[in-house]
Amino acid sequence: MFDGMLKIAGACDACEVSFESADVGDGASVFVMFFVSIFAIAIFMLAEVAFRLPIWGHALVQLIFIPIACIMLLRPVKGILFALQFSHDASEARLDDD
Ligand SMILES: [Zn+2]
Repeated sequence: MFDGMLKIAGACDACEVSFESADVGDGASVFVMFFVSIFAIAIFMLAEVAFRLPIWGHALVQLIFIPIACIMLLRPVKGILFALQFSHDASEARLDDD
């Protein structure tokens, strides 16, 4: 399904059905950004209350947490969005749609 880290392949490897109709665009990154930011704020507040970290400590924690969480979540979330869009045959509205 994927052609590289995040690029959706043009067709299925097994049955060669075309994936051209489904395009998730930036959808996955928006969901991941909102989801990760909730936890980033929670970690920030917990670290501040529990350890009274200096600002560079918070920056260090967040600079490690945010990229790792985003990289781990982007591919599965994009896969889920793509699968939902493909299975429901969703696409942009066109004038010749019924
Ligand atoms: Zn297939």
